[in-house]
Amino acid sequence: MDTSKLIYAFEEGDGKNKMLLGGKGANLCEMTQIGLNVPPGFVISTQACLAFLEKNQLPAGLMDGVRAHMAALEKKTGKQFGGGENPLLVSVRSGSAMSMPGMMDTILNLGLNETTLAALIRQTGNERFSWDAYRRFIQLFGKIALGIGDEHFDEKMAALKRRVGALVDVELTAVHLRELSAEFLDVVKAHTGHAFPTDPYEQLEIAVGAVFRSWNGKRAVDYRRQFKITPQMANGTAVNVCTMVFGNMGTDSGTGVGFTRNPGTGENLIYGEYLVNAQGEDVVAGIRTPRPIAELDKEMPEIYRQLLELRSRLESHYKEVQDFEFTIEKGRLYCLQTRNGKMNARAMVRTSVEMFNEGLITRERALLRVEPSMLEQLLVPQLSPDFHGKSLAQGLPASPGAASGRIVFDANTAESRGLAGERIILVREETKPEDIHGFFQAQGILTSRGGKTSHAAVVARGMGKPCVSGCEQIVIDDKARRATIGETTLHEGDVITIDGGTGHVYAGEVPTVEATFSGEMVTLLEWADAVATLRVAANADTPEDATRARKFGAKGIGLVRTERMFNSTDRLPIVQEMILAETAEERQAALDRLLPIQRNDFKAIFKAMKGLPVTVRLLDPPMHEFLPSAAQLELEIAHLHQLNDSIKALKELPDTLKLLNPKLYLQYADGLTKLVSGLQVFEESHLEDDVIHRKEAILKKVRALEEVNPMLGHRGVRLGISYPEIYSMQIRAILEAAALCAREGAEIHPEIMVPQVATVEELKRIHSYVQRIHKVVELTHGINVRFKFGTMMEVVRACVRAHRMAETAEFFSFGTNDLTQATFSFSREDAENKFLPAYNETGILQDNPFEVLDVKGVGELMKLAVAKGRETRPDLKVGICGEHGGNPASIHFCHKIGITYVSCSGPRVPVARLAAAQAKLMESA
Ligand code: PEP
Ligand code: MG
Repeated sequence: MDTSKLIYAFEEGDGKNKMLLGGKGANLCEMTQIGLNVPPGFVISTQACLAFLEKNQLPAGLMDGVRAHMAALEKKTGKQFGGGENPLLVSVRSGSAMSMPGMMDTILNLGLNETTLAALIRQTGNERFSWDAYRRFIQLFGKIALGIGDEHFDEKMAALKRRVGALVDVELTAVHLRELSAEFLDVVKAHTGHAFPTDPYEQLEIAVGAVFRSWNGKRAVDYRRQFKITPQMANGTAVNVCTMVFGNMGTDSGTGVGFTRNPGTGENLIYGEYLVNAQGEDVVAGIRTPRPIAELDKEMPEIYRQLLELRSRLESHYKEVQDFEFTIEKGRLYCLQTRNGKMNARAMVRTSVEMFNEGLITRERALLRVEPSMLEQLLVPQLSPDFHGKSLAQGLPASPGAASGRIVFDANTAESRGLAGERIILVREETKPEDIHGFFQAQGILTSRGGKTSHAAVVARGMGKPCVSGCEQIVIDDKARRATIGETTLHEGDVITIDGGTGHVYAGEVPTVEATFSGEMVTLLEWADAVATLRVAANADTPEDATRARKFGAKGIGLVRTERMFNSTDRLPIVQEMILAETAEERQAALDRLLPIQRNDFKAIFKAMKGLPVTVRLLDPPMHEFLPSAAQLELEIAHLHQLNDSIKALKELPDTLKLLNPKLYLQYADGLTKLVSGLQVFEESHLEDDVIHRKEAILKKVRALEEVNPMLGHRGVRLGISYPEIYSMQIRAILEAAALCAREGAEIHPEIMVPQVATVEELKRIHSYVQRIHKVVELTHGINVRFKFGTMMEVVRACVRAHRMAETAEFFSFGTNDLTQATFSFSREDAENKFLPAYNETGILQDNPFEVLDVKGVGELMKLAVAKGRETRPDLKVGICGEHGGNPASIHFCHKIGITYVSCSGPRVPVARLAAAQAKLMESA
């Protein structure tokens, strides 16, 4: 590199050298050199900037160089700087190696003065445009190069508009703008003490100095400090001087924007719009409606042909869909800017596959250019992109997808109205396992409490249903069957729409667009599977979920939460019987009834996942979750007592009436006697007493089960040890289901997993149940079921003692929901809508740790556990089944620490498959 050289024409600058030419300058050079018709120009390098800053003056000879380059520009364009009939105007803009807001903006139309303005008017025949360009130039130059505050110009503009009664700028005529230009020139004189510079070279010299100085301006310095931009990353700013071209020079001129492919569909066709005889600003101001680019074929066929050529040049060079700006000046097409096009998920997937098929990009690039989380949009219904309504409230985006339906405040009503064919949204303060039957019939779930790993969120995600959780603006009164959001009251039966991707809640029905799993998506994900080393499984609790997850490409089930099966309406009473049992025999009787039900469920899930592993977790939640709350029971018991009192009072009615009003009594004596004998029969049946006794028994049990901290209480393996018969029933159901499948010839791979394990002794105890039952099943079914036995890793101690855990466990599965809760001591139910948002906003935490794995804390524990576990058992299989298993950043971490598989909710499986492939491809990065 010639270090004495400070200026580079676009034809000569090295398009890769951003340090020297800045990002913008390098791109302009690159575009010019690949043969795109960029308006001619040059870059004054960052080295010139550093030299200027050192001595506070332009380096010797710089302006001579600028003059020489301007002369070259005049030659290239046939225009003249500062005079002639075809005046050369330029834009001047800053640009460093890193994009940095806070530095100098662009000055447009530099070179204008009274003479060139007159020529511009003659040339364009458009006085208004020319005066508008002039007043804008004075203001921009005044502000940027001379440091005069915008407000001084804005005041003049506002006063003029008042004077002439104009509401918007476009109502101002050429005469008005001419008047305004004169006032602007006065503003400059008043502030600087000098007349506005009319010599274009003086304008250019002042502008270049101002750009250089802006590198050390307060805003730029603060910005670099804030974002830790070191001199190694960007040192000084370049100045880009570029010929202005105008799209409003007549009917052979125009302006437009284009995409090399359709950004909405990905279709391989040029896409965009244009306007004849107009400037970009006309499009922005909405003065005229642009036309679709295809029409240019009729209007200017030669330009259209050139545009198609531009499009293929851009793609073959950048190897990416481009979003570009163009201007046609007097029949010549110029490309002003190009950058990678932003597209929706559908277009990203389609272009990836098609660009690979066209030989434009490699398969690796095709996989890497798609942001995995985008895929989720394609798998669930979305709000119509044409909808721009205002939402009523916003909660947490807990499970993506959009759904409309009538509000229902409890699961029973949700079930009955849903079964009757209504579309409903279940709206509750928070949901509990006993609400599950309502979920099945709901289109979506909205809760006013709870975070993204709350019951509602996790269950909805598993079912692929939209959910907004923790929407605290909604105050729900389920007794009165209404909810209020500020001034708005919603009643049961009112229609609402929820968007689980954004957390917004809307009144009424909002149109949605359906999910699509395109052929291109299938192809892209097959490529992903071929690359990835991490296996992707799904969390699924029912045969239906399992079947769906398999369609999404799940290679097995990493977590079956068995308790979910306990909650359907036909099973809950049996589960409650089991919990309320006073003796071991009573409990066994209830378990005997549950056994065949669980066995059938497992059998169906195993079959749905034929050939692939299915990890079944033994019961986890505390038992009280299967019983009504104490408050609910107290209320019901009080009602029943009231009923008793009312009956007693009614029985006394005849005697009271006889005493007070014998005549009236005689009139109704017959009826009263019948009433009393009816009441007598009812009383003797002791119906209500029985119900009271039953409810009181339940209440007593609920109170006995009450815990201050149930999430840290009697749950998981602790239950399995206190009530061995419960875990034994589940183990037997799993192994018998496996035996039955095997007998039918289905290849299945069952795995038994124990939750909440803290010490290997717990694990050993449960393992002993498994070994015993396995023998029994072998004897009764004649089949030696092959299975794996493993543990959840969701307790801190288990991670620290992983080498011991691996003595008994053949696999580990990180339950990162609980492990995150335990590591931070943050309640997963409350943190997300209490203090976490403030933690994120104030930068105490970068991400929500329940969503993005905290690699520094939780991640370290996982790393330790993997290493220790494999010390004992080198082939230890390790998975993750917390919500992080579907989060791309967390998946990268899992790949890095050598995890075997990730398991996530069904609709996130495609996201995880792509993220797993990217993790492999980026291994060396
Ligand atoms: C976990 O804790 O990460 C987990 C998967 O279990 P659950 O969410 O059911 O507690
Ligand atoms: Mg857990």
